[in-house]
Amino acid sequence: MILHEHPASPARLLLFLLPLLAAAGCGDSIPDPTLETPPPATWAGGAAPTGPLAVTHGGVGSPPDWSPGCRTAAEAAGAVLADGGAALDAAVRGVMVLEDDPIFNAGTGANIRLDGRTIQMDAAVMTGEGEFAAVAVIERVRNPVAVARAVLDTPHRMLAGDGATRFAHAAGFADEVPVCPEALAKYRRRVARLLRGEAGGGYDDFDWRAVWNFPGPPPTPADTLSGPPDPETGDTVGAVVRAADGSFAAALSTGGTSITLNGRVGDVPIYACGCYAGPAGAVACTGFGEEIIRHAMARAVYDLMAGGLSARAAVARGCALFPQEYSLGLIAVGRDGWGVGANREMAFGRAAAD
Ligand code: ASP
Repeated sequence: MILHEHPASPARLLLFLLPLLAAAGCGDSIPDPTLETPPPATWAGGAAPTGPLAVTHGGVGSPPDWSPGCRTAAEAAGAVLADGGAALDAAVRGVMVLEDDPIFNAGTGANIRLDGRTIQMDAAVMTGEGEFAAVAVIERVRNPVAVARAVLDTPHRMLAGDGATRFAHAAGFADEVPVCPEALAKYRRRVARLLRGEAGGGYDDFDWRAVWNFPGPPPTPADTLSGPPDPETGDTVGAVVRAADGSFAAALSTGGTSITLNGRVGDVPIYACGCYAGPAGAVACTGFGEEIIRHAMARAVYDLMAGGLSARAAVARGCALFPQEYSLGLIAVGRDGWGVGANREMAFGRAAAD
């Protein structure tokens, strides 16, 4: 979760012009006459009116050199589609590949919460036919998105906390804590910032010690790691998919953020907020969850596509409508093609039949 100052400079004007200039020589970058606002810091997309399509993201703030991991995930989703698999299975597959890669904050690599021990994850899936399922604050599983998929086969739409964890283990998912050295180092750098009063996210003026709700003690300077500042990488991974038959699906998974109270739930498992899919396309978000929830952001961007905007224009419009002091990243696939937009850098990947 990243607070982000929106850049406003002549360089942004250049960013606005570049895709238009590139359009002359690149089929992927098409000017969109419906877009009247300056484009976001990350903006990509193009036309793809037919065939299978998969787009993934590595979380807003993730550097472009993480894109190979996102491409691998998109290709894994594409392979499911090429084998005749459903859009939902492809989206889940793509997110599982990202969950298994420790550089991304989801599954293996998930953030460690403020007590230095707890890992609580959220995940969600949605199909273009309107089927939605999610898990929230789940612990001790490697692939929360696969558990969210399994919830789809129950009479329920969301399982949370201990019930979600116990459901996963009863359904055959291995009992494992997906902790890794990268996540531990990230936790210790984040705690160092918190104790210096530089954590952001509303925590600098918030007396979190007064409402400490973890079973163990709060962190101390002994739990910190000095060194270069932690890169502000995103806290969610996502995939949106269109199958050859034109059906859509979206999937999301997150380790949440370290600087939270016990039990915090972000946008990811909240219906219409983190991801959304329908007959007009699929959308997946990343960014400052509390603000994404206020705007029911995934549904808002979906509605733009349902209203006739291209996927590429819809993500740009979505970024423009979002309060610029909060981070936001969006990926979308629609009937016309695909779009990626974020108000800061964001690694993404794409796989298509072309
Ligand atoms: N949206 C995620 C959350 O609030 C975090 C992120 O994508 O950076 O849990």
